[in-house]
Amino acid sequence: MMRKWNGWGDESNHFPATEQARGFLAAKLGVAKALPDAILEDVCAQVPPSRLPEHALIQRDAIIRVRHARGQSLPDWLALRSGEIGVFPDGVAEPQNSEEVAELLAMARDAGWIVIPYGGGTSVAGHINPVAMDRPVLTLSLARMNRLLSLDPVSCLAVFGAGTPGPEVERQLQEHGFTLGHFPQSWELSTLGGWVASRSSGQQSMRYGRIEQLFAGGRIETFSGRWDIPTFPASAAGLDLREWILGSEGRIGVLTEVAVRVRPISACEEFHVAFCPDWTRALECVRAIAQDNPGLSMLRLSNAEETRTHLILAGHAQAVYVLERYLALRGIGEGKCMLTYGVTGSRSEIKRLRQAVNQVVRRYGGQGTGALLGRKWAANRFRSPYLRESFWQLGYAIDTLETAVDWARVPAAVDRIETALREGLKSEGETVQVFTHLSHMYVQGSSIYTTYVYRCADTYKQTLARWQMLKAAASQAIIASGGTISHQHGVGRDHAPYLPAEKGVQGIQGLQAVFRHFDPSQQLNPGVLVATEVKDEPAS
Ligand SMILES: Cc1cc2nc3c(=O)[nH]c(=O)nc-3n(C[C@H](O)[C@H](O)[C@H](O)COP(=O)(O)OP(=O)(O)OC[C@H]3O[C@@H](n4cnc5c(N)ncnc54)[C@H](O)[C@@H]3O)c2cc1C
Repeated sequence: MMRKWNGWGDESNHFPATEQARGFLAAKLGVAKALPDAILEDVCAQVPPSRLPEHALIQRDAIIRVRHARGQSLPDWLALRSGEIGVFPDGVAEPQNSEEVAELLAMARDAGWIVIPYGGGTSVAGHINPVAMDRPVLTLSLARMNRLLSLDPVSCLAVFGAGTPGPEVERQLQEHGFTLGHFPQSWELSTLGGWVASRSSGQQSMRYGRIEQLFAGGRIETFSGRWDIPTFPASAAGLDLREWILGSEGRIGVLTEVAVRVRPISACEEFHVAFCPDWTRALECVRAIAQDNPGLSMLRLSNAEETRTHLILAGHAQAVYVLERYLALRGIGEGKCMLTYGVTGSRSEIKRLRQAVNQVVRRYGGQGTGALLGRKWAANRFRSPYLRESFWQLGYAIDTLETAVDWARVPAAVDRIETALREGLKSEGETVQVFTHLSHMYVQGSSIYTTYVYRCADTYKQTLARWQMLKAAASQAIIASGGTISHQHGVGRDHAPYLPAEKGVQGIQGLQAVFRHFDPSQQLNPGVLVATEVKDEPAS
């Protein structure tokens, strides 16, 4: 695989926008003009000399420093596409084992370098971007630590190198008849260590659990030595130290080995789609299902605008016409909301689960559909990140944001977040296309995942300024709605200003004290998650 240096996925993957998408966007947002893309060679020519010494474990050539300079947030995308990246790591190390990680950390500690632990670089919150500093920056990539190290089939525990990406986790487990079942949408490129360090959530978390439930223990190399967290099925021995690593975002140490709870592969897995007549009834329907979960692997609910947008962008006008006729005959028309769910197990379990869901759906005036839509969802489940490029080439920027709130707050929160985005560019006379789904549901509440699309301005700088306005408005709306600043993407630098609102002064000070213990000179990803006392200025 040759990964794109300034976009998502493999170089060979192209999903050009359909005529329908082009027409839809032009009608909603106005005709747009694409901004010019920078050329890799020109960007490499801007990379300044490295401040790190020559060392067998450190690569200092321009191209690898460009490839590790940014993640996948929209500001990262704009920086990469414009070529105005500003700050690059001084070098990239790709150690092969914990001993090499320890060696690199010892050198970094003694010489005062900044270290950025790097998994798949799929962060969408500014986790892995170097910032301008007096101290040299070493990006420490776990890319070569990508193997299954041991499997205990009796206890259903597997230990992997922390840099193992999603497809390799599944491939190596499936050879032994097991699965982890963790499928974030970034699965193709993100890694086990990154999932743990940023508290990731996979599409089928309802069955397999979020990474918090899957992470059983592991090995962390810190500035003050090696730290092994043993695996227990459960423990009442004081604070659970796995929680110190979950969501630590590279501030405590480098996770080199990750023990995870795995499961035997199930006989069958299916996804299905149903429709409810309106948002109010659809919300009640999914809450009823989530609170009495019959054993689904996934449940998500698109609001009316997302449902409409998906059906238009699906590109099968004739099939959608037939579907809409079928639904209309059952009283489900304009305003309908699409509900997608997953079922895993034996044939008979799947049958029982489908019946249970259809029964609830019907109680709220909804209707299930045949197997086709669910199969389409499964076939395209990792494809939407490629849409960013398709839209970009037409001159539109697309981004997503997410939170989680208690059920009682869900309707008002969705409204508030969507309104903040929809009205966010009014001062510029620009329209923003906004739609939402609930992607992970719990007994207590749900995550909210909102997508927004806007027209690029005439320059990169103005396009970034538009994003900044939208992101600030939506983040404030999240906080005002009683939501967490992130359900699954983590904090990084982009969400750090909003963290004190939910952690409180005592909480933030406690976190700072922990980081200071492991990293007294604040060399590990400083400024990420919680602001540090070290002065740093964000890359432009
Ligand atoms: C298109 C797209 C879709 C996404 N969908 C989802 C989704 O469905 N669910 C979800 O949860 N997230 C999603 N994300 C966000 C992102 O993929 C996750 O945050 C993921 O967990 C990051 O993993 P990574 O390996 O790429 O980590 P990186 O981006 O490389 O790093 C993330 C953070 O973890 C730290 N870190 C990484 N590895 C280690 C290690 N070994 N030791 C210590 N610290 C480490 C880094 O320093 C950084 O602070 C998506 C992102 C994109 C671009």
